[in-house]
Amino acid sequence: MLTSKFIHELKLWFKEEKRNLPWRQNVSPYAVWVSEVMLQQTRASVVVPYFLRWMDRFPNIKVLADADIEEVIKVWEGLGYYSRARALHEGANYFSKHFGGSLPSKREELEKVKGLGPYTIGAILSFAFHQKAAAIDGNVLRVITRLFCIEEEVSQASVKRRVMQIVEDFLPDREPWVVMEALIELGASICIKTPNCRKCPMQERCLGFERGKVDLLPKRKKRPKMTLLKREVFVITHKGHILIQKNKGNRVMSGLYEFPYVEYGAPHPFEKLILYKKLKEVKHRFTRYEAHLFPSIWEGEEEIDGTFFIEKKKLKTLPFSSGHRQILAQVLEEYAYTTH
Ligand code: SF4
Repeated sequence: MLTSKFIHELKLWFKEEKRNLPWRQNVSPYAVWVSEVMLQQTRASVVVPYFLRWMDRFPNIKVLADADIEEVIKVWEGLGYYSRARALHEGANYFSKHFGGSLPSKREELEKVKGLGPYTIGAILSFAFHQKAAAIDGNVLRVITRLFCIEEEVSQASVKRRVMQIVEDFLPDREPWVVMEALIELGASICIKTPNCRKCPMQERCLGFERGKVDLLPKRKKRPKMTLLKREVFVITHKGHILIQKNKGNRVMSGLYEFPYVEYGAPHPFEKLILYKKLKEVKHRFTRYEAHLFPSIWEGEEEIDGTFFIEKKKLKTLPFSSGHRQILAQVLEEYAYTTH
């Protein structure tokens, strides 16, 4: 058990050191929800401009629910893991329909919403509704396993339950949300991968530090190796139009636009193409894949199954997957200087 002295020190540290993040100003349940979904798998410094742009375009649940999903994905473009944008849109529709455009403050109501996991629900209940609720993300997991020197592998359900129990016991009756956010902040700014223990308000109470185990915690399973994908990408132009397709098959990229492609070395399905120019190779990572894309611009007029021509100037308005967005940037630069 952590004593009230340490909890007090943690709160003091947080009040003095917390980062000035836009979702911490004018806190609302909607802003907490959006920011927490954006912060999954993404650093706060990266999220800030996306959050501001999002809140500017979709200032409340009703506006988000009424927006076209294509525009929602476009505003999200660049943050990756697009299922999060779709889940926000679906959630907004659900809250509009069942709660008049507000977020409910009961855990069991939030649990009915697709895409809202235990962490996000905990964060909403804690930061937005000031309830005594635990929100265990990767930061908190790291802090707690080190503070209590938990040496078991952290994906085990028993370890997760233990961490949850520790945090629930840890939260005080008074201002529990401040302590919850302080723990997250500690994991995001001090108790990072290579921790800055010298500056940590919890150092005197940290068993991992005392036992010299900090660098070994939290203990995780080895990640599966990245799978390498090599693809030839066809940017096919015809009379000021470019051939594109909408990704349907792949769950991660579903709904995003891309240029037609084939696996490297495989025959392409087009009858007649004339090579105009090879573009620079693009590398990008998504989930457990590393894709190496080899794009080139061609002249051709054939629309094969699932593809369609679109005016060049409209390309910018569509959401593209990350690798193909980098190709699009090269294509637009190419056309900025040529009349091709
Ligand atoms: Fe983390 Fe070091 Fe603080 Fe322990 S003392 S909680 S390892 S930063």
